[in-house]
Amino acid sequence: MLSSDDKKKYMQLAMDQAKIAEQQGEVPIGAVIVDPDGKVIGTGYNRRELDEDSTQHAEMIAIKEACKNLGMWRLIDCSLFVTLEPCPMCAGAIINSRIKDVYFGALDPKAGACGSVVDLFTVDKFNHHPRAIRGLYRDQCAQMLKDFFRGIREKQKAAKEAKKQAENN
Ligand SMILES: [Zn+2]
Repeated sequence: MLSSDDKKKYMQLAMDQAKIAEQQGEVPIGAVIVDPDGKVIGTGYNRRELDEDSTQHAEMIAIKEACKNLGMWRLIDCSLFVTLEPCPMCAGAIINSRIKDVYFGALDPKAGACGSVVDLFTVDKFNHHPRAIRGLYRDQCAQMLKDFFRGIREKQKAAKEAKKQAENN
């Protein structure tokens, strides 16, 4: 059993992963997978732009690493910590890998598949139902995303103004 301090620690690790993504110009989303003993067996951060690959989400990368580390596709009794509510692809991969608990920070009203747009974890007919625990460091995780997108908008604005000025000269 993970203590509440443990859970905070793992979400902080996921946030550290998100920061690595941000440093590389990626949308800051990070994920960490821990085994039942609390050992970190997989980490990942969003690499969609870096790899030019729509499947390179933080959770997918963490799941692949965890499977490699354990030498099996089943991640039974493992927990996943991710800074943003998983999308349908990642929620599907979480179900397929039999992860037990999913802790996520920010909600994703546009693509969240753990309650925001759909709730894949509670679909009766699927044969595995991960437990979604939402809200751990929600504000901090959401703030990271907000800051990132604000930074992009500011850069775009600055580029536009620089262009305008160059045209006027
Ligand atoms: Zn995803």
